[in-house]
Amino acid sequence: MKLLLIEDEQAMQKTLVRALSRLGWSVDVCGDGAQALQRWQEVHPDVVLLDLSLPGLDGLRVLESARKNSLTTPVLILTARGTVGDKIIGLNSGADDYLPKPFDLDELEARVRALHRRHSESNAESGSSPIATGTLRYETDSGAIYHGKQVLDLTPRELALLRTLLARPGHAVSKERLFELVFPGESDVQYEAIEVVVYRLRKKLQSTGAKLVTLRGLGYLLKVGT
Ligand code: CA
Repeated sequence: MKLLLIEDEQAMQKTLVRALSRLGWSVDVCGDGAQALQRWQEVHPDVVLLDLSLPGLDGLRVLESARKNSLTTPVLILTARGTVGDKIIGLNSGADDYLPKPFDLDELEARVRALHRRHSESNAESGSSPIATGTLRYETDSGAIYHGKQVLDLTPRELALLRTLLARPGHAVSKERLFELVFPGESDVQYEAIEVVVYRLRKKLQSTGAKLVTLRGLGYLLKVGT
């Protein structure tokens, strides 16, 4: 099993990495909220362990952005008892489970196993549902987009953009919405940056028969087979 631990306290990182590695699991660690989303997209973990108070971007914002980016990885929130438990439920943030600190390592193991099992079962039921439009296909398991049998070589931003459009074939997605998804929480980025991502992605799609169409005032749309 592959885990992504998003936690900034070093003592906690050490304890968890040691304990979880002992179970034969691989653990990637990220201590910064702003970088966590990118790690998440790169690593394709089976389960994410998420601390809430993080430098950069707090844990709930990380989680919100991940869900907006169609990252469906089960998430177990680890946080100090009583501080945000109710808030999490109220916010309906997309967490799958919640474990207050301090916790017992056996309890953590049991929760992680349960989450992973539940997620695998629901994936099996839905046939892991790859999203496909024309000749393009997004595989939920690998997190990659294929043209036929070939994986498209995309940057994480291009991938986020194309995945969003693929999930809504024939529908325009506004520039604002795409910006939120492609540059989550990055307030220092110029709004026009989305056009650069679109421009590069367009070039990469040339040989696939898919077209990224600009609809003035409405946003962008993915058109296939014209
Ligand atoms: Ca923390």
